Amino acid sequence: MLPAQDTATPGHFGFGNSPRPMAVPQDCALSPCSGAVTSLSNICRELNVTLVRDWNSGLPEYWGDVGHYTIGFFACDKLSGKIGKLMKANQENVSYPTDTITSRKGIKLRGPDGFVRLADVPDRIWKIPGGKAARGNFENPNHFADMDQQLPDSPNKGKTLLELCDDPVNVDPDVWMNYYTRVKDSEKGLLPFRVWQFFDEMVDAALQQDVKRFVCAAGIVAHYVGDSCQPLHISFLYNGEPMVAGSLENRAGARRRGPEVTFQW
Ligand SMILES: [Zn+2]
Repeated sequence: MLPAQDTATPGHFGFGNSPRPMAVPQDCALSPCSGAVTSLSNICRELNVTLVRDWNSGLPEYWGDVGHYTIGFFACDKLSGKIGKLMKANQENVSYPTDTITSRKGIKLRGPDGFVRLADVPDRIWKIPGGKAARGNFENPNHFADMDQQLPDSPNKGKTLLELCDDPVNVDPDVWMNYYTRVKDSEKGLLPFRVWQFFDEMVDAALQQDVKRFVCAAGIVAHYVGDSCQPLHISFLYNGEPMVAGSLENRAGARRRGPEVTFQW
């Protein structure tokens, strides 16, 4: 395994001169690589190492408003037929032209009437604390679903929510609530049900021939679908390994306890 100081070597992994933390399971054992290792993610997977980045070091070039507006824009582009015509006519209500998105400046601005384009309304309107339309704690669980903890006991001991949902019968709020209670996850992310809710809204709007409501729901659901493929949005490891007391705090404080880890700085 690379010693921690190697990560600070200029040009090595592009981390500059600052050492970065690395969390390593104590029982970490090298497994033989099955082929050429071509990227840092492959190296980490083979070594069973999780790289812990600094706080507040997101990937704004891919995610946040850039990611959401990119997904919204290209989703409209991919449609065909009547619905393609409708959504392309509204592409700039859902998102921005791609050059504006990649410039990362224009997408921060609202229109003269204060309009926020639909694909980022959940983050920019509903999640903003203190905002006029803020939904506070009602909104937050719509943006993620931590599905990869193993159930600690029977029935289905050792299974994750992801595995349980291989059976569509388990895509059910009661099943999810039971799972969250048993794995002691108090945040209870419900992203797929939010998408379901918007899908039903779109179906109802289409049946009622309510085009504005349909476009509005379609533009906003792009946000939640985008969240579902953001890194770590379906993992209880979203802020790194939930640590033993005093190591690293997670989003909800130090409520949950994970396996012992060793840090190298
Ligand atoms: Zn979101």
